[in-house]
Amino acid sequence: MRILLAEDEHALGEWLAKALEQSGFSVDWRDDGRLAEQALDEGDYDAVVLDIGLPGRDGREVLRRVRSRGHPVPVLMLTARDSLAERVSALHDGADDFLHKPFALAELEARLTALIRRSRGSDRPRLSCGPLHFDGAQRQFLLGDEVLAVSPREHRLLRALIARSGEPLSRQQLLDRVFSDDDPVLPAAIDVLMHRLRRRLDGRGVRVHNYRGLGYALEPDHPSDA
Ligand code: CA
Repeated sequence: MRILLAEDEHALGEWLAKALEQSGFSVDWRDDGRLAEQALDEGDYDAVVLDIGLPGRDGREVLRRVRSRGHPVPVLMLTARDSLAERVSALHDGADDFLHKPFALAELEARLTALIRRSRGSDRPRLSCGPLHFDGAQRQFLLGDEVLAVSPREHRLLRALIARSGEPLSRQQLLDRVFSDDDPVLPAAIDVLMHRLRRRLDGRGVRVHNYRGLGYALEPDHPSDA
């Protein structure tokens, strides 16, 4: 799942980006409101963590501008105080959730995951596809009752695929979700990861199908039995 983090406090931004990456999110971090808005217009994010107080353009202004262009991305606002007035006005501007500083990482992760899940509709309350499930609490994939062993990058790839199972994702969309923008990476890297992941899933009831010209989709082996 790909997150844009807009936070100008460098120590906090750096720590959050690292911690979220360790939890399997792919994070782009911007420390300025204008840069965050530009990243939002150009990138394909599953959610945004947006600090209210940002240089360049404050978080509420970024949110208003992005929403006025009809951008539906879920936004979690970071507020400096737990102020009702601040929450109400941010809601009017189009925020989906709030967290006030200081916060616990576990709460941020839980809220982000819930936000992303809600944005995809209540018809998919769990991240699952056929016999494959993602256990958010343990941050691991289960095939039936068995833990599926994957490398950290395969984990991110599978998270991206299962979050939109049945929908093809292009190579670029997958690259964006698996690698951060400071990772030097060749597009072929996704092919190598995909090859390994397909081998792990081979014959286990779920597969990654390549739809020519559209991209890769995670599907149960026999969709009619699902
Ligand atoms: Ca700030």
